Formats: sequence, structure tokens, C-alpha cells
Amino acid sequence: MIKSINPTTGESVKSYETYSEKGVDKIINSVDKTWCHWRSTSFAHRSQFMQNLSGLLKSKKEELAHLMALEMGKVIKEGVGEIEKCALVCDYYAQNAEIFLENEIISTEAFRSFVSYQPIGTVLAVMPWNFPFWQVFRFAAPTLMAGNTAVLKHASNVPGCAIAIEELFREAGFPENAFRTLLIGSNQVENVIKHHAIKAVSLTGSTPAGKSVASISGSVLKKCVLELGGSDPYIILKDANLEDAATKCAAGRLLNAGQSCIGAKRFIVENEVYPEFVEYFLHEMNSAYFGDPFDAETTMGPMARFDLRDELHQQVVSSIEKGAEVILGGEIPHRKGAFYPPTILENIHPGMPAYNEELFGPVASVIRVNDEKEAIKVANDTEFGLGAAIFTSDLKKGENIAEMQLEAGCCFVNDFVKSDPRLPFGGVKGSGYGRELFTQGIKEFMNVKTVVVK
Ligand code: NAP
Repeated sequence: MIKSINPTTGESVKSYETYSEKGVDKIINSVDKTWCHWRSTSFAHRSQFMQNLSGLLKSKKEELAHLMALEMGKVIKEGVGEIEKCALVCDYYAQNAEIFLENEIISTEAFRSFVSYQPIGTVLAVMPWNFPFWQVFRFAAPTLMAGNTAVLKHASNVPGCAIAIEELFREAGFPENAFRTLLIGSNQVENVIKHHAIKAVSLTGSTPAGKSVASISGSVLKKCVLELGGSDPYIILKDANLEDAATKCAAGRLLNAGQSCIGAKRFIVENEVYPEFVEYFLHEMNSAYFGDPFDAETTMGPMARFDLRDELHQQVVSSIEKGAEVILGGEIPHRKGAFYPPTILENIHPGMPAYNEELFGPVASVIRVNDEKEAIKVANDTEFGLGAAIFTSDLKKGENIAEMQLEAGCCFVNDFVKSDPRLPFGGVKGSGYGRELFTQGIKEFMNVKTVVVK
């Protein structure tokens, strides 16, 4: 049984029967059968459905934002923004897929030689709950436009969103089995990966889930793309505009109640400007109004699940036991719901969860350093490598640090890290491998075929 629980009230929303192994096998075979003709449809044909899908998303954005608020506590305004971004990624690939996948003519001694991008078949997506629509659409739009088909195993706390996504594809006119949702638990994923009709896997989620999926995929030689966790460092140099930096750092930390892989997590501040930055930052973090996600005034809702809230609090408590100091929040509020307040910890050192682990909630670790060199060393002193940011008024220096010195897949200067269909997205080190979005995203699940005509 898969259940959705409203994290604002703790009440059960709806329960769903888990699909049986036989049912899953039948769906995957149908999706595979659909691929046999979907693969040879034209880009113009696929693009029409993708544009329909974009239109549907736009027309249903309020309704879908309500569903997210109900199942995982996202505030309505952020939910509407998420659905608009899904429409954007559909439009982007509807317009650009054909251009991205054009044959590349290569000059050799043959009569003709070229590279052709051919679809590989049905791809399994294992997805998280934190952006229940965006994570799926940024995978599905390029995948379907490329001529592949897809099955989705969504996180177990957002089954309503998972079903809504399948229905959106159908309503947009895609073939019945071009995109299907599998309501299954994580213990059923292994059999799906090993199914003969599944050709590759895309997982967005935690590092342990990534390791498990990668080892199963490896055992059957199927490619996987892994978008995993992060502990993004934000460096604040002494020549930064501190007020602007503090505003962006707080926004980057509190978005989605702090539950974002590219959330700002560690704030590394040069000694000289530390007190001033912390004062601005404290003000910004303290200005968040957390409460009912359905309330228009609310800027931060509850966390998505009670167990995740309790896990986060345990990381805070353990950091405090090891010497961290709380300058904001740090206590579970006495109210119904999986709430956790904006929290700032300082005096952070290696060995504390607030230094070494991903804090997947509204908790900021502020770290004081002596100079730029130490800041970069601390920024890279992590098993993760997803996003990173640097704040400085010297743009040339910022660009050099971003490009050459930070070990991360996405580095921003003077802004918080965001995903954008026009730019590749992904990580290095423990944050995974492979890329989503832009041309790299659509080419991940293609047969890069060499054709030589003598
Ligand atoms: P999670 O627990 O790893 O779950 C993600 C998905 O993987 C869910 O569908 C889950 O199913 C499934 N899963 C979990 N363990 C599995 C296993 N051993 N084998 C196969 N499937 C498994 O992560 P989450 O709590 O939903 O999401 C938070 C994590 O995702 C954070 O670490 C965050 O940084 C990361 N994330 C990364 C990105 C990125 O783009 N890099 C984006 C968003 C989130 P069940 O729900 O049924 O367990």
C-alpha cells in the first residue's frame, strides 16, 4: 500500500494499492510496444503533443500546486512556479529537440560518414518528492522528444502527483503507453531495472539510493544517470555586497523549506566581514513566515515528511553536542505538522553533521574562514559536488574561482544556484554523474551511432 500523508496536519490523504509484479511486467511490455512505433514518428508529431502538454500544465497550474501542497507541503506560490517551469521545459524541447539531435556530418575518406542520434527504448525514471513535477518533466520532456518512452517510479509520499503526471501525458494526446507511472515501492525497483525492455535508468534522489541503483544497473550493463544530494557551499568574500549576498543566501536556503538538492547549505564567510554578513543573514532568515502552505502569506511550509523533519533535527542536535552554536531556530515547534523553523548554526567544524552531511531542510551552517584560499579549501572539503556560489564584487576573480577552483557541476557568481533548461545540470563526486537539460540532457539516452558509407 502506498499512502500520501498531509504533512501540515499529519492526516492521511489517500491510499493506493501497490502494483503487482505481474501488473508491472504488463505495463512495461506495453510501453516497449509503443516505443516500436513512437521511435519512428517525426519531431513535428512529437512536438505537437509536447506543446499540448505545456498548454495543459499552464491551464492546471493552480490545481497541481494544490496537489503538491497537500502531499508534500509546498507553498502554493512555489508550486505554481514549479508547474510553469515544467511547461517551459516542454516548450524548450518541443522547439529544440530536432536541432539538438541533427546528424553530424564528419569528413573522412569514405563517401559519407556521420553521427546519428537514435532512441534506445524505454527508460526508467526513479524520482524524489521535493519537486514532484519538475524532477519528472525535466527528464520526461527530452526523453519523449528524443523518441524514447518512459516509466516512472515516483517517491512513495507523492502517489497523487505520480498519477496526475501520467494523466497529463494521456490528456495531451501522447499514445496511451508512451509514459506510464508504476506505483511500486523501492524494493521493486531492482526487478524493473532488470526487465528486458528497460534500456536505461535515471535516478534523482539520495546518495544511498544512487549507489543501489547504480550497482543494480551495472550488474546488467544498463546506463544510468544519477542526480544525487548536495551540500552546496556559498562563499562570501570580503569585497561582496553583503546585503545582497545575505538576501540571496537566505532565499537559496529556504526555497522549498530547504529541501532542494541545490539548496545553499554551507555559508563560508571571510573573517573580516563575518559579523556584518551574519547580521544581514539572520535578519533575512528570520523574516520567513512559516505556516500553512495553502495560506497566501506563507513563505515556507512544513517539511515533506515527519521522519525527514526528525532526521534533520537529529543532525542539528548532534552538531550542537559537538560544539555548534544556534543563533536562530533549532527547536521543533509545538504545533501540528512536520514543521521546522529557519535555523542558523555557527562555530561549525569538521566531524559535525552540519559540516559533513547534507542538511535537507531550512538549516544553515555558517563557517568563518581567514581568507579566500581557506574558503575554497572548505568549499571543496565535501563528498558532494552539485552546486556552489561565490559572492564578490570582482567579477573576474569570481569567474575564475567558479570555473577553475570549485569542485561542482554548477557554479554561480553573485546569485544562488538554479536549474534552467538552457544550461546543463548535474554534479560531480558524490552528487552523481551524467547531465540533464540543454543538449547534454537529451543526448544521455541515445545511441550515438556512427554511420560510414563507402
Ligand atoms: P530518496 O529517499 O533517495 O528517494 C528518491 C527515489 O528513490 C524515491 O522514488 C525512492 O522511493 C527511491 N529509492 C530510495 N531508495 C531506493 C533504493 N535503494 N533502490 C531504488 N530506489 C530507491 O531521496 P528523497 O528523500 O526522495 O530525496 C531527497 C534526496 O534527493 C536528497 O539527497 C536530494 O539532495 C536529492 N535530490 C537530488 C537532485 C539532483 O538533481 N541532484 C534533485 C532533487 C533531490 P521511495 O520513496 O519508495 O523510497
